[in-house]
Amino acid sequence: MANIQLKNLRKSFGVVEVIKGVDLDIRSGEFMVFVGPSGCGKSTLLRLIAGLEDITSGELVFDGVLVNGLAPSKRGIAMVFQSYALYPHMTVYDNMAFGLTLEKGNKDDIRKRVERAADMLQIRQYLDRLPKQLSGGQRQRVAIGRAIVRDPKVFLFDEPLSNLDAALRVATRIEIAKLHESMHNVTMVYVTHDQVEAMTLADRICVLRDGIIEQVGTPMELYERPDSMFVAGFIGSPK
Ligand code: ADP
Ligand code: MG
Repeated sequence: MANIQLKNLRKSFGVVEVIKGVDLDIRSGEFMVFVGPSGCGKSTLLRLIAGLEDITSGELVFDGVLVNGLAPSKRGIAMVFQSYALYPHMTVYDNMAFGLTLEKGNKDDIRKRVERAADMLQIRQYLDRLPKQLSGGQRQRVAIGRAIVRDPKVFLFDEPLSNLDAALRVATRIEIAKLHESMHNVTMVYVTHDQVEAMTLADRICVLRDGIIEQVGTPMELYERPDSMFVAGFIGSPK
């Protein structure tokens, strides 16, 4: 279970407010996609959910519990970024096991978890390699694998495919969709500016504009009944 509620959430950097009162209920097990133009606050919103930025005002509630001040490591969340951020001197295995080694330590258990995640992502044969010996797509799978082994209740993805070429983008997107299907009740929040990604992955899409929500709905709802030209321009057919 991992239901995430954003209640009148606001974030300012200095005097500049970039998240301007966001109310959103992300359901347990849902695949929620944030879309919107560059600079509208997508990454900031993800970082607020992850606890990587302090909330200026409003409430962030996980499964009914206020988590505004809770440390990122206590939130049951794993985040996958646009750049893979792997440790270059460590093997794929060690990259994936790193967080677990710090936290828990049972070697057999760690090996099982890493291998299971590697199988899911079809990178088992690369476990002994270094990141530089992998393609961009394989590296991004390692980054996703590193998130999976932590067994999070919530995955946050910030434009995870944008550094990949077109073919790999499609393949990895399908992998992420399968991942969501196979991990029941895992909530995913996914940022993209790619319309196809949003339409194919999302249970619901949240369209952001300049720090506020323009519209939230299923891909079909936004496509067929956009509330504004702005939403239509992003997702829908023209109004
Ligand atoms: P997006 O991910 O939608 O492109 P961001 O969330 O990265 O947008 O940024 C939203 C706004 O907040 C932008 O105007 C950006 O310049 C600003 N911003 C983001 N992070 C910081 C920061 N650490 N300090 C100051 N301004 C920031
Ligand atoms: Mg961003």
